[in-house]
Amino acid sequence: MKCVICHSDDVQVMDVKEEISIGKDVIYVTIETPVCQSCGEHYYDRRTIRYLEKVEEELKRGGKKLKEIGRVLEYVST
Ligand SMILES: [Zn+2]
Repeated sequence: MKCVICHSDDVQVMDVKEEISIGKDVIYVTIETPVCQSCGEHYYDRRTIRYLEKVEEELKRGGKKLKEIGRVLEYVST
């Protein structure tokens, strides 16, 4: 498969962490998807997009147990 952005043919399927924002929270979802090794463009197929939509809906409903891996902090200048 060729990258439509930079025309590199070095596109490999790998695990990537997709960010889903729910309110002020950011949840990482690991998916397996083709990634251009040259420019970093991600290629999502229909199945992956549907999966991410499903996960987002599930997260919005709440109740899903999530593992806390860090904090998101905001710097406020005074
Ligand atoms: Zn590319």
